[in-house]
Amino acid sequence: MSRLVVVSNRVAPVEEGKASAGGLSVAVEEAFAKTEGLWFGWNGKIENNGPIRVTVEEGKRFARATMPLSRKDYNDFYVGYANSTLWPLLHYRLNVMQYSRAHAEGYRRVNELYANHLAPLLRPDDLIWVHDYHLFVLGRELKRMGLENRMGFFLHTPFPPPDMLRACSEHEEIVRALFDYDVIGFQTENDARNLLEYVRRLSGGTVRGNRATAFGKTARVQAFPISIRPDEMAEAAEKAMRSNRARQLVRSLGGKQLIIGVERLDYSKGLDKRFASYERLLTNYPENRGSVTLMQIAPPSRGDVQSYREIRQVLEGMAGHINGQFAEFDWVPIRYLNKSYRRDVLAGFFRIAQVGYVTPLRDGMNLVAKEYVASQDPVDPGVLVLSEFAGAAAELDGAVIVNPFDEEGMMEGLQTALRMPLGDRIERYQSMMAVLRKNDLQNWRRRFLEALRGA
Ligand code: UDP
Repeated sequence: MSRLVVVSNRVAPVEEGKASAGGLSVAVEEAFAKTEGLWFGWNGKIENNGPIRVTVEEGKRFARATMPLSRKDYNDFYVGYANSTLWPLLHYRLNVMQYSRAHAEGYRRVNELYANHLAPLLRPDDLIWVHDYHLFVLGRELKRMGLENRMGFFLHTPFPPPDMLRACSEHEEIVRALFDYDVIGFQTENDARNLLEYVRRLSGGTVRGNRATAFGKTARVQAFPISIRPDEMAEAAEKAMRSNRARQLVRSLGGKQLIIGVERLDYSKGLDKRFASYERLLTNYPENRGSVTLMQIAPPSRGDVQSYREIRQVLEGMAGHINGQFAEFDWVPIRYLNKSYRRDVLAGFFRIAQVGYVTPLRDGMNLVAKEYVASQDPVDPGVLVLSEFAGAAAELDGAVIVNPFDEEGMMEGLQTALRMPLGDRIERYQSMMAVLRKNDLQNWRRRFLEALRGA
């Protein structure tokens, strides 16, 4: 069978391995479940001395080939174009999008650099699977070098409608480059439709079923919603309940209901509106004072980007304000933790929480929503309160769905979840678990690779 070559901006180090790894690296590890191959990308280091060298580390199922970036490439490509232009654009946040031509140039330069360093490692029959928005134009660069491998692309973020995409001067270049891939995969039907809409309206292309032709090239455009391994998560949650950490959390709650939120500190996650809606809950439904706690876990991310430093300050202010207003000697309304926990620890926290509160303003999928559901006790499950703008909402219709811009609606959603009778909770949990088992992480891999092999 042909080898699989995965390319993503960042290759997770070996020791990061399992429980603490982010969504993308879990997905990549899964990609190699049945095929051997190579994972290529940045090693996370910045080096300015001399020419860039690729290091190959052999592993059991796949090798890691990584290289450093120069300071300039890191600033222009990673901090600049990827995180300050594309990330906000793809999350419908033109108000925080920053743009400079130097950053766009850096983006092209680094995609070319990846192609130049990857090409010598490739074999003619390798299947190439490129991940995420950092590498929209990598396929183009590989083709320019004369490579004819089958190539697929999967976008982990949302993909905005054409009129929003146009806010970025390179919109046509990006879409044109996407069509250098044989398969273009998205998290949801909505994202796939947005690309097809662009093809029809702005490129004069055509669409037939899931095949689209634009700029003289044809690709398969399809949704492949990413997921988790629900039964493993359920097992981890059960096991975690016997740990000291879980026992300590239960003890510290003293019988109070727990609402849990877990995400990277990112403005797309809607944390400020979440805190504000919780403040409204305590104001308008005073019976929750002293009997409910919100635990928000939010490890800092992308501290090099100004908007990330700002959101951190805003949230610290809000948590302080809410606690100052409502706290009693034996109760603090918000536990706000700027640190990360391993996924197997989170599994226990999820199971203890009566409500999983997941309210991004826009999110590609949101794995935390799925992990929360899978961690529940089947005979006494908690309730997921979920933003309608998370990709996961397309699958998890057993959640209490809220509009993350409507603080009063979110407050009502919380109150509904906190008071929901056991029968309703079980029914919703069972319907969501059935969905998670039907489309699990293995299924995501299988469907994408089948589409790529068949392309
Ligand atoms: N995560 C973790 N520890 C933390 C916070 C998050 O292991 O302290 C994991 C979480 O369990 C999930 C992933 O990081 O698997 C985040 O994926 P998600 O799709 O929810 O959001 P993203 O960070 O990709 O935007």
